[in-house]
Amino acid sequence: MAAQTVANTADSTVNTTGSPVDLGPAAALSCRECGHRVPLGPVFACEECFGPLEIAYDFSAYDTEELRKRIEAGPSNIWRYAPLLPVPADVATKPNINPGWTKLVKADNLARELGVTGGLYVKDDSGNPTHSFKDRVVAQAIEAARAFGFTTLSCSSTGNLAGAVGAAAARAGFRSCVFIPHDLEQGKVVMAAIYGGELVGIEGNYDDVNRFCSELIGDPAGEGWGFVNVNLRPYYAEGSKTLSYEICEQLGWQLPDQLVVPIASGSQLTKIDKGLQELIKLGLVEDKPYKIFGAQAEGCSPVSVAYKAGLDVVRPQKPNTIAKSLAIGNPADGPYVLDIARRTGGAVEDVNDEQIVDAIKLLARTEGIFAETAGGVTVGVTRKLIENGLLDPTKTTVVLNTGDGLKTLDAVAGTGLTATIRPNLESFREAGLA
Ligand SMILES: *Cc1c(COP(=O)(O)O)cnc(C)c1O
Ligand SMILES: [Zn+2]
Repeated sequence: MAAQTVANTADSTVNTTGSPVDLGPAAALSCRECGHRVPLGPVFACEECFGPLEIAYDFSAYDTEELRKRIEAGPSNIWRYAPLLPVPADVATKPNINPGWTKLVKADNLARELGVTGGLYVKDDSGNPTHSFKDRVVAQAIEAARAFGFTTLSCSSTGNLAGAVGAAAARAGFRSCVFIPHDLEQGKVVMAAIYGGELVGIEGNYDDVNRFCSELIGDPAGEGWGFVNVNLRPYYAEGSKTLSYEICEQLGWQLPDQLVVPIASGSQLTKIDKGLQELIKLGLVEDKPYKIFGAQAEGCSPVSVAYKAGLDVVRPQKPNTIAKSLAIGNPADGPYVLDIARRTGGAVEDVNDEQIVDAIKLLARTEGIFAETAGGVTVGVTRKLIENGLLDPTKTTVVLNTGDGLKTLDAVAGTGLTATIRPNLESFREAGLA
């Protein structure tokens, strides 16, 4: 891979200990707005226009068939796609929680209920090490943190990210100190705390937590900290591309026709699109149109509202929904999500809390998958999009479940025993169960 080494050396930076940074095919950071390029480093905003920075790659050395073989021979986790990610080639040997390669479930029972005839799949990311999609993004961020010489990992979180950072830091030997709204679900708080890092509740909502972290990052108190979704955000965000890679590989190296993706900050949705575009450019899938649909909860629907109003800008909201993992009222990637939904012919839709709970139960009852509230949002929105004619039931559709229902038990409180009986047959019959 001589071409990549050259590209890296030309553009690259050094970490705090003075050794060169090796992040594989990642060549530089490039501004999403103006294209200005800077060397790889723990920076996230363009110095020219304040636009978000993202990873620019050099994939020019790859031969399609060799790349496909290399991926297929790789480990059963996201590192099979290391040649397409900002990580060193030997990443699979590092202490990392190694997420990914989660199940793509052919959801025939759910398809029947929803009237989908073109093939319906659930990409079930509750199967990751800390039971949410966030393990994918944190796994990338921690490799960047290692490369840049950070020893403390931090983040602002709606819950799942806190757990993913805690676990990844524990395994990789980093200190972790993470910040969450003080009133999150107990399952998420325990999951975040159990790995032994510091966990701080902030009196406020996620947007307040995020603002606090931005202040901390500019203060001596936060010096030397790697904030996975702030100064490591360009690296973190790339983790979401692995969802696209896995979905297409699991479909036999084919693009699905339609994807339904949840929106919190919108990062995941934009990187899913980036991942699909890369597969097309690399020739790993045949080029054809696909539609990306965004899903929000009505109680935190800034992107959906902007989409329906035909706007290019997103007006912040104050979240109030049971889908707390998606409760970001001021989503950083909102405008890019609008762009992608419109460009691909998708849409952005929202469902209310009652519809979210109904959808959680529907998915559990039909497919044996217990989703967290974010999964209720995507399944609920899928149903709504079919009803209003925006999603074509005759096309191959992939719905994301990004988290585990065991972390959001409150949302389905009241679900429980069918009956309580004495331990004898008479009592069993009395209860009408015979
Ligand atoms: C974080 C999260 C998402 C998506 O987040 P983005 O900020 O839009 O990338 C989706 N589902 C769950 C369960 C999450 O925790
Ligand atoms: Zn710029």
